Amino acid sequence: MGADERIPGAEELLDKDGKYVWHNMMSYNAGSRPMLVTGGEGSWIVDGDGNKYLDAMSGLWCVNVGYGRKELADAAYGQLLKLAYYPLTQSHEPAIKLAEKLNEWLEGEYVVFFSNSGSEANEAAFKIARQYQQQIGRGSRYKFISRYRAYHGNSMGALSATGQAQRKYRYEPLAAGFVHVAPPDSYRRPKGVSEERFNLQCAQAIEDAIIWEGVESVAGVIMEPTITGGGVIVPHPVYMERVQEICRKHGVLLIIDEVICGFGRSGRKFGHQNFGAKPDIVTMAKGLTSGYLPLSATAVRRDIYEKFKDAEDDYAHFRHVNTFGGNPAACALALRNLEILEREGLVARARVLGERLLAGMEKLRDHPMVGDVRGFGFLLGVELVTDRATKAPAPVDAVKRIISQCKAKGLIIGRNGDTVAGFNNVLTFSPPLSSTDEDLAFILSTFSEVMAMQP
Ligand code: PMP
Repeated sequence: MGADERIPGAEELLDKDGKYVWHNMMSYNAGSRPMLVTGGEGSWIVDGDGNKYLDAMSGLWCVNVGYGRKELADAAYGQLLKLAYYPLTQSHEPAIKLAEKLNEWLEGEYVVFFSNSGSEANEAAFKIARQYQQQIGRGSRYKFISRYRAYHGNSMGALSATGQAQRKYRYEPLAAGFVHVAPPDSYRRPKGVSEERFNLQCAQAIEDAIIWEGVESVAGVIMEPTITGGGVIVPHPVYMERVQEICRKHGVLLIIDEVICGFGRSGRKFGHQNFGAKPDIVTMAKGLTSGYLPLSATAVRRDIYEKFKDAEDDYAHFRHVNTFGGNPAACALALRNLEILEREGLVARARVLGERLLAGMEKLRDHPMVGDVRGFGFLLGVELVTDRATKAPAPVDAVKRIISQCKAKGLIIGRNGDTVAGFNNVLTFSPPLSSTDEDLAFILSTFSEVMAMQP
């Protein structure tokens, strides 16, 4: 994309950035500089040199309604003038209305605790689950089971639940009581085993972990409906069904992390609705505000909440305080964000157009580097390999090369997996749900051109 409007002072700003700003995940290679992002409209962002890029990652998988929505800014502005802040030790209208709306979206009876980030939403879920188990007389239950390759956040508990070694390395020891099992990575299943059977075996690994850890020690299982950041690992429908049965059988709470999959990304309002699951706790963030302001939520089944509400002793209520959680402006903005998703039919659109996007990507299956293409809704992964027979993962350098060639052509895509385990080979596509037909055509044509350039 051609440069058309250089932002005055961009170079100076980046000099100062190098001096003062500590970036997320930055590896500080000599001479490397971040992109100075100066604006966004629809699915496109602009950098300090006036270059335009189609952001097929929606920032960090979150700008579901696209950039530049004035009505979201207005919703926050109006609320800031009326009531900018009050903690949710008391209450305010935007939080009440949003919690009610989330119940509608969740198609169940939930009570909502607000925080600011996905990590915090998961931390609240872990504390609620442990305390609940104690308050119903199962005080020995404190462990959580999660999957390798999953990401659940950066804070000590959420990072402990995370199953990516690269995120934990040099930050250990983490929180005790988090146990990991293999995810249902159907692409890498043993030869001769059907996808359905393999997924049932992976679900069985969860029951085995519960039994071997000791049923009376396990408080909950946490999982995303589809592993996203760990490489878009989409389970067969039998997986979630079986996991839910196992959790019920053993009195283990099922916590579904909808931080990425929620708010239409998966082609349904929430990812777990693709599998007919009825989670005990649902955590959400990102698409809740489309990233416009920080806000997250932990939705807890009403009858679990009742065990806190009606409890007798002084320590039986949820003693968790979050200064900024449920900020009125963030809640007002989130409500408007959900209104946009509904009004513009963006969830159904992601379902229908997601299939078209997937079908377009499928055409690359014959490429020697493409091992697998998978996903649903506006959430796709392309797994790169060096050899399609052995499925040896493509090296990081080749994956990075493809990403920078896409960027040079005006397309931003993601890279996911785990470096320590040698699997950092899944390209990810997660464009705004509001992407136009032309945007989707641009993603497909640009990515195909770049794949055609590979040696
Ligand atoms: N859960 C999942 C599935 C995530 O992808 C993320 C963030 N990428 C988190 C939790 C943590 O969210 P946050 O960065 O807002 O703390």
